[in-house]
Amino acid sequence: MSKRDYYEVLGVERGADQKDIKKAYRRLAQKFHPDRNPDDETAAEKFREVSEAYEVLTDSEKRAAYDQFGHAGVDGQAAGAGGFGGAGAGGFSDIFGDVFGDIFGGGGRRHPNAPQRGSDLRYNLELDLEDAVSGTSVDIRVPRHVECERCDGNGAEPGSSKETCPTCAGHGQVRMQQGFFAVQQTCPTCHGSGEHIKVPCHKCHGEGRVRETRTLSVKIPAGVDTGDRIRLNAEGEAGINGGPPGDLYVQVAIKPHHIFEREGRHLQCEVPINFVDAALGGELEVPTLDGRVKLKIPPETQTGKLFRLKGKGVKPVRGGPPGDLLCRVVVETPVKLAEEQKELLRRFQESLEGSHSHHSPKKTSFFDGVKRFFEDMKP
Ligand SMILES: [Zn+2]
Ligand SMILES: [Zn+2]
Repeated sequence: MSKRDYYEVLGVERGADQKDIKKAYRRLAQKFHPDRNPDDETAAEKFREVSEAYEVLTDSEKRAAYDQFGHAGVDGQAAGAGGFGGAGAGGFSDIFGDVFGDIFGGGGRRHPNAPQRGSDLRYNLELDLEDAVSGTSVDIRVPRHVECERCDGNGAEPGSSKETCPTCAGHGQVRMQQGFFAVQQTCPTCHGSGEHIKVPCHKCHGEGRVRETRTLSVKIPAGVDTGDRIRLNAEGEAGINGGPPGDLYVQVAIKPHHIFEREGRHLQCEVPINFVDAALGGELEVPTLDGRVKLKIPPETQTGKLFRLKGKGVKPVRGGPPGDLLCRVVVETPVKLAEEQKELLRRFQESLEGSHSHHSPKKTSFFDGVKRFFEDMKP
């Protein structure tokens, strides 16, 4: 499924400023928020779409990449072999908190110091058809936040302690008077944590997490197809305040193959055949994923005819019997004929003289039809 344009999703102009984008997002996110649309998959999907658009368009770097390259720029697919993108429901709570403050009421608000699960991550992996069919193992490099080892994710330099945030007195929120309204906002000093780190950890500068690129070996099960996702438990972003890490999803896409086209568990390929074999019948060598096999072609084979090689398709990753290989024969008109060969064909043509209807039933019935068509048009 192709993704909608982010500007279109939010219903804003391409040149929209941050204020307009926030406004549009706030309106749509309220409309589709899961709390207001319980058990509504469509609303949940819209909510994810809106959130993703917001995440990209409010990040100047991501927005610039998106403006230039479209979705490929932010999904990382422009890089070719694989790319990387945040797909976090977990990470989303941060921007949600930023824009909404307390708009949905205090009831469901998390405690500022409560552990938060880390974001899920998505890695786009392109595979050759052969590898996808037989299964393989690939090394991927994943940049992500991991828990800081120096401070155990706590953010404070070992030996020092945290104190209650002086700005918000530990609430993580501050009230601001705006005209008639009192608006609650995330505390600008502690960013909602409610705590103040006196001596930030030297390694993570108080964040509790550090960015690190790790190489992971991913086992690709045999039979995966475009759209399949492989989940790597707890290999996503590190959690916050001691929360569990998110998961890493490896999103599979199969590269186009020069011979085979895949449709689920079936494969299709086109096999050229010369017109003599097509007329007289013969034996063809056709490719399969595990080598060549012979295919008998009966006499009077027409172009476009499909031959099914049972079980020569793909064994589905979720089990079940392997699919078939469908070979579509295409009769090839001979080219670069020598004068002598042309002469043979002319003589062959003469031999058909008077009996075309017998040898070319399709052509005959077609031209009979054409004749009737023009006769019917006469006034
Ligand atoms: Zn604070
Ligand atoms: Zn640290």
